[in-house]
Amino acid sequence: MIPIRTVLAVSSLSLAFACTSSGPPPLSAEALRAHVEVLAADDMQGREMGSPGALRAAEYISSVLQKAGFAMAGGMGTYQQDIGMHGYSTKGDLSAEFVGPAGKSFDALHGVDLRWLRGPPRQFTLDVKLVAAREDLPEFADPHVALVLPVDGRTAMSWLGATHGDGWGAVIFAGPSTVGEPSSPPAMLIGDGNDPALLMARGPLAADLAAGAYHTLHLKLDGADPVPAVNVVGLLPSEDWRDEAIVLMAHYDHIGLADEGDDRVFNGADDDASGVAMVLEIARALADGGSHGRAVVVLLVTGEERGLLGSRAYVQAPAVPLHSTVAALNFEMVGRPDPNFGPGELWLTGYDRSDLGSTWAQVGLPISADPYPDQSFFMRSDNASFARAGIVSQTLSSFGMHDDYHRVTDEVHTLDFEHMAACAEVAYTAVRILVDKGFTPTWSEDGRPQ
Ligand SMILES: [Zn+2]
Repeated sequence: MIPIRTVLAVSSLSLAFACTSSGPPPLSAEALRAHVEVLAADDMQGREMGSPGALRAAEYISSVLQKAGFAMAGGMGTYQQDIGMHGYSTKGDLSAEFVGPAGKSFDALHGVDLRWLRGPPRQFTLDVKLVAAREDLPEFADPHVALVLPVDGRTAMSWLGATHGDGWGAVIFAGPSTVGEPSSPPAMLIGDGNDPALLMARGPLAADLAAGAYHTLHLKLDGADPVPAVNVVGLLPSEDWRDEAIVLMAHYDHIGLADEGDDRVFNGADDDASGVAMVLEIARALADGGSHGRAVVVLLVTGEERGLLGSRAYVQAPAVPLHSTVAALNFEMVGRPDPNFGPGELWLTGYDRSDLGSTWAQVGLPISADPYPDQSFFMRSDNASFARAGIVSQTLSSFGMHDDYHRVTDEVHTLDFEHMAACAEVAYTAVRILVDKGFTPTWSEDGRPQ
């Protein structure tokens, strides 16, 4: 037996649909294909957060939202929400000369003695300061200092705590006691201007640094102009504004370029150009459909692949206050049918965590429970950022664990646009239940993540 509250909610919803529905605006395979073809094209260069390709994708998405009539909700009169991080493409080799007393000097080689792990590329001369114990850490960071912490990276990070070393010129921790293989610095570095160059020293260099053998470091890594990492945010206000909104989202970033190979572009057609296309078309249909009980925030985030960075930034600075946000639906990898189900069918992560799935099931929508609970998909996409903030937020997908996941073969021709159009119809109906008639989903007992 289903709870009485759900029965009442559903019966009033079905009735409402019968009255208002003159058929939703068509959600076409052609329109979905057009979005995916732009976003997953080779010239988007794999849409890596903070890359020029990702910014081009953000501009395309902004133009679609503008055409659909969405208001700019990224702040500062634009669709684009700056999340405070930048991408830098690095150029050339690392140059790192350590200088000690009496003219002693050592040129470190990338990969062999030293690895640059994080922080924007730059050129600077730093005083080397050895701090051998946590209690000796200076209270204030100094941008002219390379801090040597002669401990492993995990320990170094725990010493630095919440600051992550922000404000120091560089932070050098100790890696393995043997030298490594020569390698190039990372092709792309993400950070903001306050980030230290985070370096790992190894072999004899690590031992010499721990012994205080050097006092100066000349460090140089060339990089291109910084590219801001942005979310794209549009708002469809409510006609009878009730101070409540739902969020529809997908991530438009992907993993960039492979280091080598004939085809180096990670196109990310399924992951997650498909989800972005679906959100854009549902958004357009909502704008065309009129009559909205709740406002709709359309959020296309960056930085999912780097650890949900864009959605976390949105939750810190939302377009509609979080206490007025009643649900956030995320779309991930909806471009191909899951063989466990079939074309036009979706599954929902964290199905039993809320009453969303059961409510949709009551009106016969083909949305099943996530068949791969071992994969922890619920915590692995941007819905998790909202769920941690207390908002009922789950992901719709039809990912069937195909082999093209995070490979350069995740290409447009592998997608099934008829399947996508059928899923978009299903999702559109599912969304209207939230938007039009005030169904407010709630967490099940123990459903909300800690
Ligand atoms: Zn994804």
